Amino acid sequence: MPEKTMEWMARERWEALVRGEDCPLCAACQSTEPVNRYGYTIADLRISRLRLARNQYVGGYCVLICTKHVRESYHLAVEEQMLFFQDLMQAAQAVDQVFRPDKMNLKILGNIVPHLHVHLIPRYYGDPAPGRPIDPNAQLKTLLAREYEERVQLIREAL
Ligand SMILES: [Zn+2]
Repeated sequence: MPEKTMEWMARERWEALVRGEDCPLCAACQSTEPVNRYGYTIADLRISRLRLARNQYVGGYCVLICTKHVRESYHLAVEEQMLFFQDLMQAAQAVDQVFRPDKMNLKILGNIVPHLHVHLIPRYYGDPAPGRPIDPNAQLKTLLAREYEERVQLIREAL
């Protein structure tokens, strides 16, 4: 995904992204390469792909990407909405089982890439954002390749 910015991108760029042109999340769903600069593919579910974020500042931070390019969750057909929600529940429970957080935050934003995806952000007692959302990219924490693989495998087994 593009770097965070405090300004809206050019209007033409935004509208092209909404149409799915050069959409990085479409690319992430279609890629057969399990690892890219943003993270590791864990599994393909009913209508989504679950990925472990490369930045593990918040342990267990994952992103569930809908395999269909829609801007909003309510743009999916009702049957697809149910499939996506089932995927989300399955993914969140798996992350919960592996990381045992004190709370799970599920964030649907899409202000940088308008392609339906959900941030699964485990919350741990004592973390630095009590009472409010935590920015999983506030700091950068990367792991060794084998540590990513281990997390991917544990989540896969919990799915
Ligand atoms: Zn897309």
